[in-house]
Amino acid sequence: MITFYPGPSKVYPQIGQYLSDAYQSGLLSVNHRSEPFMQMLKETIDTMKSKLDIPAGYEIYFCSSATECWEIIAQSLVLSKSLHVYNGAFGEKWLEYTQKLRPAAKGLSFDPNALPRIADIIADQENEVICLTHNETSNGTALPVAFFAELRKQTGQVIAVDATSSMAGVALPWEDADIWYASVQKCFGLPAGLSVMVASPRAIKLAEKIADRDYYNSFLFIRDNFIKYQTPYTPNALGIYLAGRVMRQVEPISEVSEKIKHRASAWYSFLTDHGFDILIEKPEVRSDTVIAVTGTKERVTFLKKAVKENDIMVGNGYGAWKETTFRIANFPAITQQEIDLLKKCLISIPSPGNE
Ligand SMILES: *Cc1c(COP(=O)(O)O)cnc(C)c1O
Repeated sequence: MITFYPGPSKVYPQIGQYLSDAYQSGLLSVNHRSEPFMQMLKETIDTMKSKLDIPAGYEIYFCSSATECWEIIAQSLVLSKSLHVYNGAFGEKWLEYTQKLRPAAKGLSFDPNALPRIADIIADQENEVICLTHNETSNGTALPVAFFAELRKQTGQVIAVDATSSMAGVALPWEDADIWYASVQKCFGLPAGLSVMVASPRAIKLAEKIADRDYYNSFLFIRDNFIKYQTPYTPNALGIYLAGRVMRQVEPISEVSEKIKHRASAWYSFLTDHGFDILIEKPEVRSDTVIAVTGTKERVTFLKKAVKENDIMVGNGYGAWKETTFRIANFPAITQQEIDLLKKCLISIPSPGNE
């Protein structure tokens, strides 16, 4: 079965060997305060920083999931309120999770075929954190790099970005935001159970001002440990080990990003040329890593079934678009050969009327 599911998604084929290496290395049985573990954690962080081109002053911490990052940000970086700018299900969920801890958190929804207005985002300077979703996995939209540059220019507020389905797939404008996070079962091509949080000096300063240390996963508690290459609790050592091996294996992000963008534009042309409707009409806000195709409920059901008969799986729709879209992951672990097979399969499916 070839999977184009946008998370959990296809893992790199080398994972099989790495799993065996992890076992052989003995790392899975060592104490997480021991030298070999700390050395492995340091190597993983250093390699990730270098391969993803993360600025020197930014720090990396490993947590369990993107969902956990939502809570860490709410409890440790927001004293009273944050602003959540969203156009789809994941951005909205982040708002909902935050409101449980910080009832004053506000949402600002925008049209998936447009960009949010910067004037609206920065209207209330009392928002301690502006929360954005770089790549909205539910509808196949992404915020362009220029948007982050412009927002950064116009406000000194801390900016947090959910990059769960784009980090390690496309180059990110790190300097134009303060917290970036992702879980690894999407563009990293790794098994689930680990997330990556990247923090700027400005984010660290805000956390220090708020000084929350009340939870096992309070931001500062995590940070105190990670800067010594330790962890606040017994960590997912296997996940961290695998992340280190995959980061060593992959090309630098500039090259990966170029390939992913090239493949995305080929996908969009292919789909348009063959009579498929892209959910998002405006090319400027289309995602490079998750492609959402729309159709009637009947047509989408028919297409998914026809593809499955060829041993290929595409992603179901999500949230409001559950039944009228299917999604195609364009993550780095997926090969061109697999893409060609899916394209061939899509062309061979009878068009409506000839079904
Ligand atoms: C998948 C996804 C999440 C949730 O990730 P978990 O690892 O399940 O917590 C959050 N945000 C976005 C944009 C996602 O694509």
